[in-house]
Amino acid sequence: MKFMICVVVNCIQGRTIFKMEAGAGDSESAPAEPAENIYDSQDLWSDEDDALLVASSDTHACEEILSKASKAAEITKVPDSEHDDPQTSSRDSGCTVQVKRLPWAERNPLQKFRPGYLWVSDLTRQHWCEQMMLYTFTVPTIPVESPVMTAGSNLHLARELAVHSVVQVKVTSSEDIWATKVINLFMTIQGFLNGINVAREIPIFGAPFDKDVFIVGLIDELRFDPDSYTIDLLELKTRSVRSCPKIAQQNQNKLQVMLYKKLFDDLVKGRVSKETVAKHLRLDLEKPFGEDIMGHLDSKFLTAKNLNELLDFVFIRIQSLTCISQLSIEYVLQDTNESLSQNPVEYDDNELKATFEHLLQFWQGQREVEGVEIEDSWKCQRCDFADVCEWRERKAQEHSHKNTAKAKLRKKMQVSVENNLL
Ligand code: SF4
Repeated sequence: MKFMICVVVNCIQGRTIFKMEAGAGDSESAPAEPAENIYDSQDLWSDEDDALLVASSDTHACEEILSKASKAAEITKVPDSEHDDPQTSSRDSGCTVQVKRLPWAERNPLQKFRPGYLWVSDLTRQHWCEQMMLYTFTVPTIPVESPVMTAGSNLHLARELAVHSVVQVKVTSSEDIWATKVINLFMTIQGFLNGINVAREIPIFGAPFDKDVFIVGLIDELRFDPDSYTIDLLELKTRSVRSCPKIAQQNQNKLQVMLYKKLFDDLVKGRVSKETVAKHLRLDLEKPFGEDIMGHLDSKFLTAKNLNELLDFVFIRIQSLTCISQLSIEYVLQDTNESLSQNPVEYDDNELKATFEHLLQFWQGQREVEGVEIEDSWKCQRCDFADVCEWRERKAQEHSHKNTAKAKLRKKMQVSVENNLL
């Protein structure tokens, strides 16, 4: 099947790393067991595309999916005996729901470019420049990783491996892929309850502010204080120069951590339902996990056999934690790994909601794409799309028309003053 992957256990660059990193907030006493995160080795989480067929194990659930599935899609119920997709017809399902995609021109940007869910990074890139973010979907480019990006990724990886090992598992379905994320979230929760103080690369998800858009993210670091029972969030940003970034970039980082807090807190408050997860990610909650996921769950003494049971368990466990108390962003110099600054971020729910709603208006097709305003035009100087950017050209023309109009007005006033003097 499509997601067939070899199994590599506890092997990163030929060795397993169980070391706990020393430092502020870290556990003084090592955990009884090394912490670990699991990954599907093709990182398929971000590559999930529209599922054309959604199978359900009973008629009631099938009706639920039908009623809740995206309004943008035309949906028909197909008897199992009629559809000819070998993959779905082999499923042990009571009914099958066929979701037919809308023509391209009728879809909104969410349906076109991010069917199912948005990443937090989509929103932060959009916050920097929406037009730039859109061009990354529409203008063919060859992604090139700069040395700065590589150094940043390496530093993140080193930090991750300092607190847990990585286990690769074989996934056999979308449900397996999402199970890996839920298990990693669970390992963080369980770790905190068992006395581990630091967790890194924590998957997080939800549909904040009841906007019917599913958001997925990956928190850099959470720190748990067992005495005060509080959780703090730390986002790591690497710098190639010895200074903090400009305010525009700091605002982008602020949006990122505020979104993480919102997603995490919603889970703690029990505001994310299994049905929401299933609907947006088009998952069959009853579909049994593959062998590898089952084996991994067994090794953690978890008895869930499908997402329905796993999510029930994890959602209840996370509600025993508290909401995130403090947010901060640490800027670290890449060359030396030296911490330049750790900036606290004040969470503002109203500000986040207003920004989030504005960003979603674009995704939901309620407004046209926007580029940067004239005062932020310095961003265009280092933009890969500056040569093709229609927004920039339009703004330049507007600016030039304004200047011409101003010059004409100035000249007219000058003539009038001169006439009055004569
Ligand atoms: S040129 Fe400027 S407005 Fe256009 S995409 Fe780039 S940053 Fe945005």
